[in-house]
Amino acid sequence: MEELLRRSEKLTTVGQLAAGVAHEIRNPLTTLRGFLQLQLQSKALNLSHVTLMLSELDRINLIVGEFLILAKPQATKFVTKDVRDVLQDVLRFLDSEAHLHNIVFRTVITEEPCLISCEENQLKQVFINLLKNGIEAMPQGGPIHISIQKKGSSIAISITDEGVGIPEEMISKIGDPFFTGKETGTGLGIMVSQRIIHSHQGTLDIQSQVNVGTSVKVTLPALKGEGKGDILESEGHRQGS
Ligand code: ADP
Ligand code: MG
Repeated sequence: MEELLRRSEKLTTVGQLAAGVAHEIRNPLTTLRGFLQLQLQSKALNLSHVTLMLSELDRINLIVGEFLILAKPQATKFVTKDVRDVLQDVLRFLDSEAHLHNIVFRTVITEEPCLISCEENQLKQVFINLLKNGIEAMPQGGPIHISIQKKGSSIAISITDEGVGIPEEMISKIGDPFFTGKETGTGLGIMVSQRIIHSHQGTLDIQSQVNVGTSVKVTLPALKGEGKGDILESEGHRQGS
């Protein structure tokens, strides 16, 4: 309960977020302005400056892009999906990226239907964010273990890497807007993911050990669906309520 309260306090108002965005965008804007001024003074185009300006623009674009995901909650449409299909789509989408970084996806996926109510693109965004963090945590490559299990009335999806891990003193800051341990990180991926999972009535937990790896567990409420999962689910529900 205390943890819940802490989270709700820390991801507070839109205003706080807006201030953060403004701050994060002002830095690259200042750099851009400085370089543009230089171009003007020297009256010649300096290509390395132009390259820098482009990368600052890309950064602004990245930050704004991540916020757009949060900015249109009215447009969301919840539909019934099997989370196994949603995750498999994402794995297929990230396959070449993974291959490029010597990453292999190892999956253990239940045979039972795993129906949930979800905003499909948002949920995909969560899986992409988590898998990308896993890939980035293993610069030399390695396996990412992905499992989907049905447990009573909920579905557990876990994504576990064997990467650098998160130092203990950092773990409570993960999910704070703009908190990043990376040079070019935005520090928005986990925050956005948490918000999306909470809007799906689910939970997102992170466990990590330095130089061993990180495991992110997402749980989502299961919908009643076809197959033997039905029996399990209703039993779990009765016990839980
Ligand atoms: P970003 O990836 O842009 O830095 P995130 O919100 O996705 O932002 O992650 C915040 C920070 O949490 C990362 O910079 C990293 O330090 C830490 N982190 C998240 N996932 C992992 C992981 N799988 N392994 C190691 N560190 C992680
Ligand atoms: Mg990230």
